[in-house]
Amino acid sequence: GSVKIAKRLQEEIDKNGLTDEVMVVRTGCFGLCALGPIMIVYPEGTFYSMVKEEDIAEIVSEHLLKGRIVTRLVYDETVAENEIKSLKETDFYKKQHRIALRNCGVINPECIDEYIGRNGYEALGKVLKTMTPDDVIQVILDSGLRGRGGGGFPTGKKWQLARNLVKDADQKYVCCNADEGDPGAFMDRSVLEGDPHVVIEAMAIAGYAIGATQGYIYIRAEYPIAVQRLQIAIDQAREYGLLGKNIFDSGFDFDLDIRLGAGAFVCGEETALMTSIEGNRGEPRPRPPFPAESGLFKKPTVLNNVETYANIPQIILNGADWFASMGTEKSKGTKVFALGGKIHNTGLVEVPMGTTLREVIYEIGGGIPNGKAFKAAQTGGPSGGCIPAEHLDIPIDYDNLIAIGSMMGSGGLIVMDEDNCMVDIAKFFLQFTVDESCGKCTPCRIGTKRLYEMLEKITSGNATMEDLDKMEKLCYYIKNNSLCGLGQTAPNPVLSTLRYFKDEYIAHVKDKK
Ligand code: SF4
Repeated sequence: GSVKIAKRLQEEIDKNGLTDEVMVVRTGCFGLCALGPIMIVYPEGTFYSMVKEEDIAEIVSEHLLKGRIVTRLVYDETVAENEIKSLKETDFYKKQHRIALRNCGVINPECIDEYIGRNGYEALGKVLKTMTPDDVIQVILDSGLRGRGGGGFPTGKKWQLARNLVKDADQKYVCCNADEGDPGAFMDRSVLEGDPHVVIEAMAIAGYAIGATQGYIYIRAEYPIAVQRLQIAIDQAREYGLLGKNIFDSGFDFDLDIRLGAGAFVCGEETALMTSIEGNRGEPRPRPPFPAESGLFKKPTVLNNVETYANIPQIILNGADWFASMGTEKSKGTKVFALGGKIHNTGLVEVPMGTTLREVIYEIGGGIPNGKAFKAAQTGGPSGGCIPAEHLDIPIDYDNLIAIGSMMGSGGLIVMDEDNCMVDIAKFFLQFTVDESCGKCTPCRIGTKRLYEMLEKITSGNATMEDLDKMEKLCYYIKNNSLCGLGQTAPNPVLSTLRYFKDEYIAHVKDKK
């Protein structure tokens, strides 16, 4: 409803003679999806939620003309009459720390000047004017930034390999993985829709660091607004001389192009993504060689995801120590999560690594609706696992999640309550991987199908305890023998639900011995 509301707001502002005093700015996502459409009135930052077209006249006549807050539209209904409650003071935002999302919901993503007004392209200038490529890589290494797309590989290490492995390469590439395909994940989409320039700036910095002159953003075609805003941002950056030849008169050339994905989940896997950019069917290829040595068009390539890039300019501007001061010993900085499922505040949150699941779900997310009990949270999408209530207080970081049988993944966090059947959840995710398996290798192509059939046998009440054992063995067979990450992680939702909720599987079987 936001488009209609913005139009109505502008009409009302014009009608009341405020055209020269009040500017309506359309931003990207604020993160609080559950309470949208949202409007923030600056400079004081009053935060109105669930705004409807019919509220606009009152907001203009009361707030904009008379300075009186329309309290019935303020997020926290405990707010006193005319008390100013900013978005940052709400429970949803208080514990968040926004680095990747710092501009989302704040600037007009289609205006490069607004990005520049928030220190945009300053990091690129700093890098090109005052740092060597090795300096840049050292800062990223020291910051401890790890890839936010799932695996958590150190970003600086990746850049260092791409710079040094093949010294005499005539061409290198920088790629951005914006093929966000996990069910329930919309972090990258929000960054691209709300702050596209941050990715462009970071990719140019990566290009300078590894010695690449060309970049590609691989984005799924199902994100039309993100694609459109990215293209606008690329055009504006070219117009301002921030992409193209001789950027900042430094002698450094770098340009970017967009490539659209056609909806295959496997194209989020790095080698499949590059194969797809090359114009071939998006299938993974065996590694080694790794992309840092032989990636896109067989040239040394760095590939990071959107959220990873969104951290880069701030690390360059504020320093490695600043970034490394946040998070846990081995997972630095913050992580963006897309909260979904049985939770009050569905939306997008960014918290320091090491925040507990309980804080995310109960303090930021507002808890479980309808007084129901929390049962589990699914992280990492179809590659991840379910975290039960006993681990609600574990600090979230890459290593802790793996230790309890899940994984960070890209950041989808789906909450389940007491009414959810965990066997159904496992079946849902497995159905997804069966559909998305590219078919190149047998363990994944056939193994996931057989696994799905076993789950169906269980949920239809026809399985035995022996079938449960067979199913577990098949999970490990698929994990250990599949070619790429999709197959290697496809059984995770089954294994983690078996680990924590075996009683629910047993409840379905015929002979409960
Ligand atoms: Fe394709 Fe699955 Fe094999 Fe990956 S594991 S190559 S998705 S069949």
